[in-house]
Amino acid sequence: MDPERRKKLDERNERRRFRIAHDPEYQAKQDEDKKQRRLRYASDPQHRKKQPESGHIWNTRKSQDPEYVEARNASKRSRYESDIEFRRARQRSVEKSRVRLQAENPRYRLRKSLHQWCLKHDWVRETLPWKTHQPVLFASKVHKECKGCTRVKVREGVKLWWRKIGDRDESWLCHACHMPMDNHTAAMPYGYEDVTTLEGTINRKQELERTAKG
Ligand SMILES: [Zn+2]
Repeated sequence: MDPERRKKLDERNERRRFRIAHDPEYQAKQDEDKKQRRLRYASDPQHRKKQPESGHIWNTRKSQDPEYVEARNASKRSRYESDIEFRRARQRSVEKSRVRLQAENPRYRLRKSLHQWCLKHDWVRETLPWKTHQPVLFASKVHKECKGCTRVKVREGVKLWWRKIGDRDESWLCHACHMPMDNHTAAMPYGYEDVTTLEGTINRKQELERTAKG
């Protein structure tokens, strides 16, 4: 993008962010517009078909120009660290999408629940018939190399890791990579694919044990 246009866009975004931070009415209107756009995307196939075009330029660049991606990330990072308005806006938007995911996306909820169960219950980690990876809980945050991502939070260390089963060389995934949003059945243990609660897990375990005995 040419620098002149970039500058104009930055200035416009700057003004928008300022208004969003200081004008609750404007903020509510922006949220509503965003919601309407999401609804339209979900309900209007014609409109949806046009969408990939707008993401296309960035996607192409992302896959073909690692230097550009690196520079863009670096500039965002330094801005995040130095610009408090920018940081607050980002935090608000992350928090909003977290709340929305929690409310609307059962897979997101399951991912979070499973994380909790693995932290709290040894039997969940140690006795369930995991498919490809087994959860391992460390006493404090440790760094492993996740095979699936380079998330900052994961790089800085987490307590729960998923170790590949049957591999002589240790191979690890972070929780989010072990349970991607689009394939949670592969991450659930054998026989637990449809379970979504801890109570359901306990019941299923008893059921399966009864069947094995009988
Ligand atoms: Zn990962």
